[in-house]
Amino acid sequence: MSSKDVSSKDKIEKTFSILENYPDYEVNIGMEVHVQLTTKSKIFCSCSNEITKEPNTNICQICSGHPGTLPVLNAEVVKNAVLAGLATNCNIEPVCYFARKHYFYPDLPKGYQTTQSDKPICYEGYLPIKLEDGSIKNIRINRIHMEEDAGKNIHSNFSQESFVDLNRAGTPLLEIVSYPDISSAYETRAYLKSLHSIVKYLNICTGNMEDGAFRADTNISVRKKGAKELGTKCELKNINSFKFISDAIEYEIERQIDLIENGGKVQQETRLWDTKNKKTISMRSKEGSADYRYFEEPDLPLIEVSQEYIKQIRSTLPELPMAKIERLIKENGLSQYEAEIIAEDLDLASYFENSYKIYSSKNIINWVLRDILGLLKDQRISLNECKITPERLAKLVELLDTGKINNRGAKEVFEEIALSGKEPSIVIKEKGLEQIGSVEDIEKIVKEIIDSNPDNVALYKSGKDRVFGFFVGECMKKLQGKGDPKIIQDLLKKYLQN
Ligand SMILES: [Zn+2]
Repeated sequence: MSSKDVSSKDKIEKTFSILENYPDYEVNIGMEVHVQLTTKSKIFCSCSNEITKEPNTNICQICSGHPGTLPVLNAEVVKNAVLAGLATNCNIEPVCYFARKHYFYPDLPKGYQTTQSDKPICYEGYLPIKLEDGSIKNIRINRIHMEEDAGKNIHSNFSQESFVDLNRAGTPLLEIVSYPDISSAYETRAYLKSLHSIVKYLNICTGNMEDGAFRADTNISVRKKGAKELGTKCELKNINSFKFISDAIEYEIERQIDLIENGGKVQQETRLWDTKNKKTISMRSKEGSADYRYFEEPDLPLIEVSQEYIKQIRSTLPELPMAKIERLIKENGLSQYEAEIIAEDLDLASYFENSYKIYSSKNIINWVLRDILGLLKDQRISLNECKITPERLAKLVELLDTGKINNRGAKEVFEEIALSGKEPSIVIKEKGLEQIGSVEDIEKIVKEIIDSNPDNVALYKSGKDRVFGFFVGECMKKLQGKGDPKIIQDLLKKYLQN
């Protein structure tokens, strides 16, 4: 988890939707999400699937499209596809195959992309999302198919030249296609965030949007409420942040409605989001699927997925984000908001749960959300690099909860462990932060002071509240300022009333 991820842990906020200005209209949004898989090797050859910076160094005859070479399917890709399908409630096709999708582009030397067409490996699933009012809506998933990525064209900023880097060619992708069931920018974000956590929970994708490892195309159309047919859709291509996708959708809703209201017609096309001017711009008219001349890939055999295999994969499915949120609320007493933030990041969730397992205090979550996240952000480090392990945090919170140190001391210990990685109990001794400490110790002192000041006790009991300060002062003196004021006051009140 990078520090960047931490700062983006924003809650999906209730936002104004542009649709509120057009009560007669509704919007239909379908998502096509490309998920770059983190398999060891590429989809049809044994080249490494790691990102390689030096152009054209991580390629072979197969992924660079030499004629006469034969692809061999990576079994891990099938496994990941089935995992994704099961996690999104899809049916798994018992027999499926690849197809060739033809188009010409310099970063695709074969002249076709090997993908799946009319028989994708997963079909007809759904992903539940949480709406603003807390209710659940299922977004239907039309299909999940496997395919290869293309290379990259790089256009020089300094000359009229363009370059082709094929390192990315043959990287395995899943394309997850939803039905146009999404009806606002808010729902789009909820859907994407949910899918994003799922692929990270399944450990099949890094989820990194800036690198394009998780990228979404948005199909969007508007229509008058009650209309039977969907409106003409536009496709918003490859927008690499949840925020930009929301902004682009809001803009596009208004553009399409204005066009219709002014007697125009929406053209089916692909549009880009111009982040600088905050508007969508036309890129090209959209090809129909007929233009691709799909046909079955003759160089790859049929893929059979047995019930036995599906059962085996199902048994390896981890707990998914929604289930985790429910459990964190029920078993660990987190609020909905806390649970959502924690569950959004699997590393953070494990951190919290490990710490809570050692010392089950309600305060653990506060320290994780406030201090640990703050620390990661300040130091620009990941949880793995953080010297405050779940064990150390648990110990620290325990020392605080039991009155061994006070709040200020706890902060000091926290900072010291963050730097040195020492154990909390050692830091406390070294810094002399130990309060005379346990509740029992303070109790003893409180009793002594009450016993040796009967006059003031009598005054207090007769209603002279201000002598309370005298007792607090005496206790602090005895404790050399190390006692927790809250505990002292509580104990004084308790014994003065007897
Ligand atoms: Zn290769």
